[in-house]
Amino acid sequence: MGLKKNDKYFMILSLTAAASLFLWQRYAKPQEGVMAVVERNGEIIGHYSLDDGQRIVFEEEGYGRNVLMIRDGKAYMEEADCPDKLCVKQKPVEKYGESIICLPHRLVIRITGGEAGDTDAVVGALKLSDEIKPSG
Ligand SMILES: [Zn+2]
Repeated sequence: MGLKKNDKYFMILSLTAAASLFLWQRYAKPQEGVMAVVERNGEIIGHYSLDDGQRIVFEEEGYGRNVLMIRDGKAYMEEADCPDKLCVKQKPVEKYGESIICLPHRLVIRITGGEAGDTDAVVGALKLSDEIKPSG
């Protein structure tokens, strides 16, 4: 009888292990997420996932300081010491193709990844239908 009890225990244990492995694979698997790509002077200086809330400080001799915030799947310029502060005034970006530009500091934050393919297809279709619209 003792053996059977152990078998049962073992079965429950392995079932629990299998279930947690399944859940882990399902929920903890890294996804193809939306990324913020940061460029300075046309050169990529960093990639950041919008899934990870973080605060990134860009500070470089001759360019000044920009503080990029990533929160709730959105990216925005929290702080900058550029003269116009236009980048700080820009709306948070979260979708493919959106960008924040700090012209005085030559800094560009672009959103890539996510449903890039779908967005492109929709934009392409809209453009096409505009062009073939009959005139007159
Ligand atoms: Zn700026």
